Amino acid sequence: MPLFDTHCHLQDPRIATQLNTLLQHAAAADVQLMLCCATSESDWNIVLDIARQYPATVIPALGIHPWYATDRSPVWHDRLRTLLANPATAVGEIGLDHAISPRSDADQDALFLAQLDLAAEFRRPVSLHCRQAWGSLIEHLQKARRLPPAIVIHSYSGPPEIIPRLLPFNVFFSFSGSLTQPHHHRAHATVPAVPSARLLLETDAPDIDPNPVPDPEGIRPFGPPNEPANARAVAHRIAELRQSSFNEIAQLTWNNARRIFVLTSHDHPDKELE
Ligand SMILES: [Zn+2]
Repeated sequence: MPLFDTHCHLQDPRIATQLNTLLQHAAAADVQLMLCCATSESDWNIVLDIARQYPATVIPALGIHPWYATDRSPVWHDRLRTLLANPATAVGEIGLDHAISPRSDADQDALFLAQLDLAAEFRRPVSLHCRQAWGSLIEHLQKARRLPPAIVIHSYSGPPEIIPRLLPFNVFFSFSGSLTQPHHHRAHATVPAVPSARLLLETDAPDIDPNPVPDPEGIRPFGPPNEPANARAVAHRIAELRQSSFNEIAQLTWNNARRIFVLTSHDHPDKELE
């Protein structure tokens, strides 16, 4: 049963030199597709090169992470607009982070709204980072004059109560290996609260250290650093929390992720479009 890692950073210097090995591990774990998210203008071309190198496996997402909001160049918007002409490119990692210090909300807000609007204009899905900014996120989504076709909140850490408030804005919820940490109680309550059609999984590799506890198949996670093959352990944990089976979760999240992120039928002739 194939898996789709909807958020990783293969361009990160901690793993970029071992991509062949990592992608072999991923193939052996049946992690067949992954979204590789850029974080700043300096890695956009690296992400595109990796996607070109592994066209059947890696889907690129381009954007500026809120941590780098104040570093953006005067031409970032023109550059992103030009690169989004490639129809297979998603938008990410973008978002809001109120947990960092120092921070500039004015810069984060302006950057987030401009990227959200570009995604809406080009009809591209978004991979979104949100930490301790749930009120602002909902306010921005309410005020947006147009929305992208899908907004995937990566490594979702918000409370279960706001899930219903986010659903009208085409929001999906992706869970990471942080679920495998035994004390992550909020996520344990959140995972079962997500509607099946909005559920996704990811590794956030090379971030989020995999828990060294083997999954039910006896497979010990790779790393640290984390890598996409560990999406298998995440699927097992989600299955446990939703009282479902590994196969059911794999199938569900695979179908959901493909509908969102496989943007051309070119490399994936069996694509089913709604
Ligand atoms: Zn990330």
